[in-house]
Amino acid sequence: MQRCLQLAKLAAGNVAPNPMVGAVLVYNEKIVGEGYHKKFGEAHAEVNCINNVKDEDRNFIKKSTLYVSLEPCSHFGKTPPCTDLIIKNKIPKVVIGCKDVYTEVDGKGIKKLQDAGIEVITGVLEKECVELNKRFFTFHQQQRPYIILKWAESANVKISSPPTPLHKWRGEPLPQPSPQVGSELYARTFISNEFTNRLVHKWRSEEAAILIGTNTALQDDPSLTTRLWHGNNPVRLVIDINLRLPSNLKIFNKETKTIIFNKQKHEEDGNLIFYKIKEEGLLTQMMKAIYELQIQSVLVEGGAILLQSFIDAGLWNEARIIRNEELIIINGINSPELKNALLQKQEKYFTDTISYFLSSS
Ligand SMILES: [Zn+2]
Repeated sequence: MQRCLQLAKLAAGNVAPNPMVGAVLVYNEKIVGEGYHKKFGEAHAEVNCINNVKDEDRNFIKKSTLYVSLEPCSHFGKTPPCTDLIIKNKIPKVVIGCKDVYTEVDGKGIKKLQDAGIEVITGVLEKECVELNKRFFTFHQQQRPYIILKWAESANVKISSPPTPLHKWRGEPLPQPSPQVGSELYARTFISNEFTNRLVHKWRSEEAAILIGTNTALQDDPSLTTRLWHGNNPVRLVIDINLRLPSNLKIFNKETKTIIFNKQKHEEDGNLIFYKIKEEGLLTQMMKAIYELQIQSVLVEGGAILLQSFIDAGLWNEARIIRNEELIIINGINSPELKNALLQKQEKYFTDTISYFLSSS
């Protein structure tokens, strides 16, 4: 099962909205086939695993045990059901990491295998298998995306300075922009250092979308892309209820898919989508819209009021807080106040300490 998890992770970023799945076929304590779901719309892990068995080993299939990190599917989706394949290949025993919560599967796969006389063992490394697909599970069980809150703060717990007429903070002392990173980064993100900034871009590449509020879009003019890391750009989600953001902001450059939540119009122009929602109960409305858009995870990057409203609503799964231990911001805006949070770990990168929290609510 550990090997199934290793294999599954190789597809990170390529299979959403499908879950990551790995499968291993074992005969006589030896792996005779292995595979994983590589790309959305393509073959499932079980199919790749069975196809991977060498010709000289194929007669062992009917005496082997199939290990798979997620319950095999029993429905016709983009590919035929994997349970049929397992039954057809006369595999006598299947070991499953965790059940699939997707309504089309949800125990039906296990039942179909058992009905065919196959021995099924479930719940092996279950916690790890659920953790691997935490976004997928949250999305289907709670009908909302998996939510990660992120902010950077100073040593005196300030998230930023008050807006200046230039909409740029000119605090001091500033680190010198590094040639590798580029000065535009420091124009926006003074608080965290270049190493943690790079890490933030990695985090972005791991999520389906990033969300920011109107003021953050206006003051920081962020690109919200993964320039400092390889991988996909997440969908940019921006709240602009009254459509007051100027069109020359980077978020409007159509470089990547961008959705503007507003109460005035519904309009699609290539990569740029104006999505009409009600202002009352904004968070709930937004979660509904994001669910309908099939976006399974969101990194909320600010500002303080938006982050706080997610915390107050108990609407988050993880929080990642970057604190620059050497920076003091005078007259700054207070950081959001985390509630019902469990500290998981801390990492230190020069000036910055990153604290990772899980929601306990
Ligand atoms: Zn399948």
